[in-house]
Amino acid sequence: MDENNVRYYSCGPTVYNNIHIGNARAFVCADLLAKVLKGIYKKVTFVSNITDIDDKIIEASVKEKISIKELSKRYFEQYKKDTKFLGIDDPDNQPFATDFIKEMIDFINVLIDKDAAYVTNGNVLFRVKSFKNYGILSERIIQEQDSGSRVDVETYKEDPNDFTLWKPSTDDEPGWESPWGLGRPGWHLECSVMSEIVLGVPFDIHGGGNDLKFPHHDNEIAQTCAYHSNESAESFAKYWFHNGFLNLDNEKMSKSLGNVVYIDDLKKNFKGNEIRLALLSTHYRQPIPWSLELLEQSKNIYQKLNREFKKYNLKELKFYKDSKVGKALLDDLNTPLAIREMQRLVSSNDSDLEENISTFKYIFEGSDQDLSIDKKLSNEIEKLIEKRNNARNNNDYEKADKIRDKLSEMNVKINDVNGKTEWEIL
Ligand code: AMP
Ligand code: ZN
Repeated sequence: MDENNVRYYSCGPTVYNNIHIGNARAFVCADLLAKVLKGIYKKVTFVSNITDIDDKIIEASVKEKISIKELSKRYFEQYKKDTKFLGIDDPDNQPFATDFIKEMIDFINVLIDKDAAYVTNGNVLFRVKSFKNYGILSERIIQEQDSGSRVDVETYKEDPNDFTLWKPSTDDEPGWESPWGLGRPGWHLECSVMSEIVLGVPFDIHGGGNDLKFPHHDNEIAQTCAYHSNESAESFAKYWFHNGFLNLDNEKMSKSLGNVVYIDDLKKNFKGNEIRLALLSTHYRQPIPWSLELLEQSKNIYQKLNREFKKYNLKELKFYKDSKVGKALLDDLNTPLAIREMQRLVSSNDSDLEENISTFKYIFEGSDQDLSIDKKLSNEIEKLIEKRNNARNNNDYEKADKIRDKLSEMNVKINDVNGKTEWEIL
């Protein structure tokens, strides 16, 4: 809509557990699109939220016997580590749901005023019948829907399809004061409210995994359209970007099915770049049948390519849109073609090989790795180590420990050997 600022919102994680390789696919695909857009537009604002209040978080905090704050912080930190490991850049803005509770309450009040929502039994529900285009994204016919996908069909609903905007909290559950009593927001609401505030609507692209199409994204459309009294889904987001599932044994990998492979467990045997390549070896819209074989294959391809790449001393990673790799990516993010082109090119002596390698590394390795690690990150690390050593020389051990913690948050392990501090990135 505005070529001086392309705005893109992608649904982020619910931080109650480590991310699995299926979640990672969604985050890698979002990062792929953000990187390509950033390669061709002056400015891109990429927003991805953190869901830090949700029934699953409450359940996990009871199970792990820690507060929801501690729990969501723990898994947010782990998410940051895992995504960095996979070469995923931080979003330009990463709003936390619990920082927007007041705005969510205001938003719900507008929906109630417009008769698009109603209060019942301490809950506020969205009145699905009030929005003519409900289900437009997933093309569901409203009568056929299985309304029990996230919540049991409660008897107090006017219509079984109506969904929760606000629900009551008991005294031992996290809650916020509201006109409807102590409670907490529904999951769908947060993305409508945060995209409204952080990006402004309409914005260009909205995305997430295929399973978010319904009900999550259709509910977001209904809420935002009702809020603005505009029936057109384009008054919310112009384009939708959904990635296919990553499957294990023909079933979607999911925490609820229990067939998950965690990134953290793969770290022992594979580099982030090798896993990233495996995730991008299939077109984003297609399902990926996940297997160790696929990973091994990608590891081989990556190592072979990398041996060739090392012969070139690239000064910066850049997206060259006219390179073969760039062209493949500009054709609906055709990553399998981009990989094939790269493999073919390293064995030929093409004159624009460096441009292709630069584009390939920028997309497939993530800008945080290799080159940029060498320069930017190592400067930062050396500076922090110097500060820590100065603090230790001044007997300020508290400060020295804080800096060590910061380094460990950055995945940097330090070792004091013979009066010198050595470091490595884990
Ligand atoms: P969640 O934290 O469960 O809300 O999931 C975070 C993101 O991962 C969402 O965009 C989901 O659609 C996506 N996702 C979850 N499971 C898979 C899977 N097996 N394959 C691809 N994407 C997935
Ligand atoms: Zn969302």
